[in-house]
Amino acid sequence: MSARFDVDTARKDFPILSKPVRGRRLVYLDSAGSAQKPRHVIDSVRDVYENDYANVHRGLHYLSERASARYEEARETVRAFINAPEQHEVVFTGGTTEAINLVAWSYGRSVLGPGDEVLITCAEHHSNIVPWHLVREQTGCVVKAVPVQDDGTFRLEDFARLITERTRVVSCFHVSNVLGTVLPLRDIARLAHAQGAVVVVDGAQGIVHLPVDVQELEVDFYAFSGHKLYGPSGIGVLWGRAELLEAMPPWQGGGGMIDTVTLSATTWADLPDKFEAGTPPIAQAIGLAAAIDYVSDIGIDAIARHEQEVLLYATQRLASVPGLSLVGTAAGKASVVSFVMDCAHPHDVSTIIDQYGVAVRAGHHCAQPLMDRFELSSTARASLALYNTTEDIDILVESLEKVREIFQ
Ligand code: PLP
Repeated sequence: MSARFDVDTARKDFPILSKPVRGRRLVYLDSAGSAQKPRHVIDSVRDVYENDYANVHRGLHYLSERASARYEEARETVRAFINAPEQHEVVFTGGTTEAINLVAWSYGRSVLGPGDEVLITCAEHHSNIVPWHLVREQTGCVVKAVPVQDDGTFRLEDFARLITERTRVVSCFHVSNVLGTVLPLRDIARLAHAQGAVVVVDGAQGIVHLPVDVQELEVDFYAFSGHKLYGPSGIGVLWGRAELLEAMPPWQGGGGMIDTVTLSATTWADLPDKFEAGTPPIAQAIGLAAAIDYVSDIGIDAIARHEQEVLLYATQRLASVPGLSLVGTAAGKASVVSFVMDCAHPHDVSTIIDQYGVAVRAGHHCAQPLMDRFELSSTARASLALYNTTEDIDILVESLEKVREIFQ
């Protein structure tokens, strides 16, 4: 792991960053939506299709064996990256959304009954709210939410108060996709475990900005997507403790997840196949492993340090823009910066600065309950990745000045 990180060198790894947008330098500040891909990932996906592609686990021929081996090597790469105890605890999914749905449908429906509680936070992405609402309809469980403070912090006392002997599941983000707030997962896990509840983590943003060691975090499930971690879309991961995954029923049936099938009955395959029905995203899993290798080569700590420097710069520069308010200023936050301007709607902000090559996300960010809490319909969001620079922030701020000129 290298301690020195040179952003200019790293930027050259991302072909798209050198392509002008609207005749200008691309300032890509929507990595929380989806990150750009380094050549290493693009090449690895192409390499699978050019050299080692067939369906996995089904053929005894050369290419199927090659593809299967690479697919399973990818699982080991993920295991090592999150320091999971066992490879078979790593389930490939289509993304974070599918991973959380897997837990909700399989674990949730097995253990939840009327009056049992699922605790989320009011800042969850819809993919960590709606699956629990769906399960609520089937089980009669109750979904509660931990409130957020005005600055975007969450108080551990609120978790302690809301986790009760009725709580069966605590399902929360690692890093908020709107506020950038980082939750103290280990403390939350200890509170949950003391009441016999399990902890499910939506790690869609956490995996990108923080070192993740699932054993150190003491959580029970951790979900993330490949595309936010510089990997392909269509691939994600659910890590779960073996004893929990083993006891859980499959949630989808099909090829690859069975041991035996007769016309009257099915028995399941062992982990992780039990949860991987159908043809999996083969090249995408291998591409995700390439992304993890790329990130690990630079070092997630070095990436985090760089992002924190740019975040500090962005926070100071944006604070100097008249009429601009930051939404989410919790201490120790990750590099996601939401803001609103008093002169223009976030959609107008985004559309106008796009003319200057600046890509930010505007909207509710799939977090409508959080928008309601702050009495906002939407925010603009600049989310930073390893390839962003202070120059990107200067261009963002200059383009926001243009917004002010237009609307004032
Ligand atoms: N959770 C959080 C915090 C997110 O930011 C996102 C995506 O923006 C998701 C979940 C959903 O991820 P995906 O669409 O890759 O399943």
